[in-house]
Amino acid sequence: MKTSFSPEQLKDTHLRESEKILRTCVHCGFCTATCPTYLLEGDELDSPRGRIYLIKDMLEGGKPATPEVVKHIDRCLSCLSCMTTCPSGVHYMHLVDHARAHIEKTYVRSAGDKFIRALLANVLPYRERFRVALAGALLAKPLRGLFGTLPVIGLRMRAMIDLAPSHFPSREAPEPAPAIAAPARGKVVILEGCAQPVLKPSINLAARRMLARHGIEVIKPRGEGCCGALVHHMGREDEALRFARANVDAWIAEMDRGLEAILITASGCGTTVKDYGFMLRDDPAYAGKARRVSEATRDITEYLLALPALSPARATGQIVAYHSACSMQHGQKITDGPKRLLRAAGFQVRDVPEGHICCGSAGVYNILQPEIAGRLGARKAANIERVRPQIIATGNIGCITQIGANTQIPILHTIELLDWAAGGPLPEPLHGMSDLLAVAMHAPSNAVQLNG
Ligand code: SF4
Ligand code: SF4
Repeated sequence: MKTSFSPEQLKDTHLRESEKILRTCVHCGFCTATCPTYLLEGDELDSPRGRIYLIKDMLEGGKPATPEVVKHIDRCLSCLSCMTTCPSGVHYMHLVDHARAHIEKTYVRSAGDKFIRALLANVLPYRERFRVALAGALLAKPLRGLFGTLPVIGLRMRAMIDLAPSHFPSREAPEPAPAIAAPARGKVVILEGCAQPVLKPSINLAARRMLARHGIEVIKPRGEGCCGALVHHMGREDEALRFARANVDAWIAEMDRGLEAILITASGCGTTVKDYGFMLRDDPAYAGKARRVSEATRDITEYLLALPALSPARATGQIVAYHSACSMQHGQKITDGPKRLLRAAGFQVRDVPEGHICCGSAGVYNILQPEIAGRLGARKAANIERVRPQIIATGNIGCITQIGANTQIPILHTIELLDWAAGGPLPEPLHGMSDLLAVAMHAPSNAVQLNG
């Protein structure tokens, strides 16, 4: 794509990077076929190619964002399906991140829009605030109908209430760190994150047990917090970089003392932490450290695959639909690994039709764009139910919440199933499902070797 940035503009490193990305686009339009918003809306401006033109025009002109640009960029899920499809290697993620930051700096949103975005940015990344907010949403559930009548924020407030779990989130069980045989075979960190430990503390507990079985020590560094993805996707660049720097400081100190890897159990966070090296590239004090952190970051399934396989400790055999989160398959290009681990643990894994299409979760998208997210969530649940699974597995808390709101089939994090198969406790969503478990008791183990 031909661009016409002035030499003066290209002194700005962000514009220079975006110009490079724009020049790789050859207008072929292949990406439109796999874009969820184009699929639903059928409008070129809601396709990757259309958005690329809008971004180009906005950045080249050095103009403030217009309502039309904001409308179509806000509708983008940042699912990155277009990056998987693009034959020219257009780095849409960095381009849309730049566009969102430009919008945040130059566009004046309505009071309602500002309020809801400030609320999300000041609550979600902070565990204790989020816990209180969830309790408030639970209390507001009987009044949800009233919220729909409020202008601008009503539907979004209702989406927040609908996504809140139906019981008060309990604090992480004070489970002692699982014992490992000394000496430890490795030392890692599991990113605790912000929303996940409040919504489902069982995920990281399962990860710790799995790692302990492999003799891997898990440490908890001081100063670690939210990865910054939630505010990053809202264009709040300074806040995202503040979170990134705090995490880099916390982890780099441990890396200098032998920390081998930073493990992530929410693929949305994984995509962002793996991008810290790029996000902090212009900060001389952090560029090198952030690159080291990104290089040492692994999804929990990537890390487990590199370890010797464990034999399943119990018969499993349930039919599991594996939903690959967009941040897993498009953001991190992790596709087969989680399914290989599940099969090795004895589960019968089924792929989901339209597996490349987003479920509508996408960070805070299901709150900010509830109408499109609702349609995508229902479409995803219908596609999953088509393969008649007994359990759904995925690797991202956002997808667990979004898909869980659209189906009665129990949905679990992949690591919870792996941990259960390896001898861990029965995951809470499977409690009372004796039929499903009885099938497993009689099912022949179909465990396979990971390298088979
Ligand atoms: S990131 Fe997803 S929603 Fe956005 S343009 Fe690409 S495919 Fe479409
Ligand atoms: S597939 Fe890639 S090169 Fe083709 S229009 Fe989309 S972004 Fe541009």
